[in-house]
Amino acid sequence: MADLVVAGAGMAGLAAAAEARSRGADVNLIEKGDRAGGSMLLSSGMVWRHATLDAFCEECPDGDRELQALIFERTESDIAWLESLGARVTERGTGNPRTAGVRFDTGSLTRSLVRAAGEPRLRRPLQELPAGTPVVLATGGFPAGRELLRRHVTAEADDLLLRATPWSAGDGLTLGLQAGAAASAGLDQIYGRNMPAPPARVEPADYVRLSQLYGRHASLANVHGETYEARTWSEIDVVQWTARQPRARAWFTVAEEALSERVRDRTVAEMVEAAERAGAPVERHGGSVTVETVAGVTSTLGGLRVDTSARAAPGVYAAGADAGGIATGGYSSGLAAALVLGRVAAAAALEDA
Ligand SMILES: Cc1cc2nc3c(=O)[nH]c(=O)nc-3n(C[C@H](O)[C@H](O)[C@H](O)COP(=O)(O)OP(=O)(O)OC[C@H]3O[C@@H](n4cnc5c(N)ncnc54)[C@H](O)[C@@H]3O)c2cc1C
Repeated sequence: MADLVVAGAGMAGLAAAAEARSRGADVNLIEKGDRAGGSMLLSSGMVWRHATLDAFCEECPDGDRELQALIFERTESDIAWLESLGARVTERGTGNPRTAGVRFDTGSLTRSLVRAAGEPRLRRPLQELPAGTPVVLATGGFPAGRELLRRHVTAEADDLLLRATPWSAGDGLTLGLQAGAAASAGLDQIYGRNMPAPPARVEPADYVRLSQLYGRHASLANVHGETYEARTWSEIDVVQWTARQPRARAWFTVAEEALSERVRDRTVAEMVEAAERAGAPVERHGGSVTVETVAGVTSTLGGLRVDTSARAAPGVYAAGADAGGIATGGYSSGLAAALVLGRVAAAAALEDA
């Protein structure tokens, strides 16, 4: 019998399994999907933290302070650990003075972690908790769980665009709650991006390229003409607002003079053109342009409540998006949280056993 079961081979599960193996444990790493890497493989690969712990706590005011401190303090050394495993860095620094971090090539990151963690057993969803063996739940939250999204996040759940793997449907949350774990704060919150609305085709390889990240330079309205103004640099509030509008839709109207504004490495005009080429409804009147967008859900921010050893219930540990209540009320790096808590969960599970 294995010393530890790890469910999910994304960032949190691979980090947990790699940590456990480095401590000499026999790990049973099981994965529901047909490949390793989870949403991590589809991501931009930026593992980051806020510039200061105070900034983290201010940006995510309803998150658990102790978990925020743990993640803040360990992110840099855990990034160094990833590099020591051979993961390739493509960029140092985030280009944003509010944050510090490193961008990894996600293919290299996944391969390096799999080498250290051992090959996951694919197409093996965890369906019930193992008796007598500790388990790390790292199934990626419930971005693909329509029923849970409808219950906790928005009545418009059926219209959300899934911007994550199709396998993260809330299995960890359901099993953890059954085992007696508590739900964290913020079960109603998501992280995501506004994306080109249907009939646009948005393939997983396009999740980053097609994101419509210019709410700050646009006027935003729902189908009834009710408006919203972007409040955060990350625009997480924009996608959360959009998710709750009829059919999870928002129309971004940009005046001609704002088309040359830059957000990170792209101009607004480039993002609009990308949406138009993908097939989204785009209208031009005079010099201004209106793009129909849909809320794309990348990750859920609520999940199981854990302590700073990632404990959720006796013998049950949670990490990554399965552990909620960290970014509540704001935005922080999902990859950093998954990395740190994945390693912490494995260490605690082995020590407790
Ligand atoms: C397009 C995109 C861009 C992003 N960019 C960034 C970024 O730059 N920086 C950042 O910090 N974050 C980013 N993220 C978010 C980041 O990818 C996630 O926060 C992170 O991957 C969460 O890690 P995780 O281990 O919880 O989930 P995942 O990495 O998704 O792994 C969960 C795994 O669990 C598996 N699973 C599900 N159910 C079961 C089950 N019952 N049994 C076994 N396995 C199961 C899934 O198949 C999956 O492989 C991005 C995400 C996307 C999609």
